[in-house]
Amino acid sequence: MSEHIERLKTLIIGSGPAGYTAAIYAARADLKPVMYTGMEPGGQLTTTTEVDNFPGYPEGIDGPTMMVQLQQQAERFGTEVRIGMVSAVELSDEPGGIHRVTVDNSKIIEAETLIISTGASAKYLNIPSEQKLRGGGVSACAVCDGFFYKGQEVAIVGGGDTAAEEASYLANICKKVTMLVRKDHMRASKAMQHRVNSLENIEIRYNTEVDEVLGEQVVEGLRMVNNQTGEKEEIPITGLFVAIGHKPNTDIFKGQLRMDDMGYIITESKTTKTSKPGVFASGDVQDKEYRQAITAAGTGCMAALDAERYLAMVASKEAVAS
Ligand code: NDP
Repeated sequence: MSEHIERLKTLIIGSGPAGYTAAIYAARADLKPVMYTGMEPGGQLTTTTEVDNFPGYPEGIDGPTMMVQLQQQAERFGTEVRIGMVSAVELSDEPGGIHRVTVDNSKIIEAETLIISTGASAKYLNIPSEQKLRGGGVSACAVCDGFFYKGQEVAIVGGGDTAAEEASYLANICKKVTMLVRKDHMRASKAMQHRVNSLENIEIRYNTEVDEVLGEQVVEGLRMVNNQTGEKEEIPITGLFVAIGHKPNTDIFKGQLRMDDMGYIITESKTTKTSKPGVFASGDVQDKEYRQAITAAGTGCMAALDAERYLAMVASKEAVAS
């Protein structure tokens, strides 16, 4: 362990749209934020090809470029962006208390406020042909990428609310959507099931899983397997959407912050305040519902404003006490 302990007003963990927006606002409020990027600098958007739904980009923008631009904007106001992984935290319960953060198992930082923007990771099937074609027709976000498959035939894996919602979304754009549900029933709410059942261009295959995604550079088809009979079948598709859930990146905060049963950080209504004073959460790490770059950016802004107000409140209490 290093002996030197750095002291910061605001530490931001995670470098997606939420983290960078928090950084822009925090830096402009003179909180001198430092950001640790995590393992995947730029977050989930760096694995997206084209972002067409972020306001302000009439021609669209590719995900990695957008994240570089967000970084440049955050740095322009003085954010220090560092590559590193927060490996442990000790969060204070006291208003005005100091939070201790360990980076890369060695460096210790003491932060007056902490903005957690560590995001969530889409779950994948983790079969080789799927991994090979990520970005080449395999996607985990229909709202982000569905448009590229306009008028084409696609498939979606999963039987939860996300899969049902995304299947309906795709059905509006695509010629045909084949939905693969591994059980003989869906987990999605009855209302969502009704919606997918009512759409003529969605074909639901129960007891069915992906055997292999076909294609070398881009998706050209899908081999499905019926897990009851073992029967295999190939269909031509150009896009495969995996909608089998997300995992919020909250392991290091377990036991210290209030979370829901899926591990998402719970924030106080209409704020980014967590269960610990001075600790704020923004982006997908606290949102399993919307999960869009623009909503993440919005909550990043809120987190920086909440942090600024919290620091002002602590300072005024200290001034009264002294
Ligand atoms: P869920 O965990 O609810 O569903 C995941 C689905 O993927 C299940 O059908 C599951 O099958 C299937 N699955 C998991 N692993 C595999 C695999 N390896 N191969 C094939 N299928 C697999 O995740 P969601 O993202 O759908 O939803 C997360 C939460 O967000 C839920 O609480 C949901 O209600 C909520 N939500 C609400 C929305 C709304 O209200 N509008 C919209 C979207 C989400 P199995 O059932 O067999 O385990």
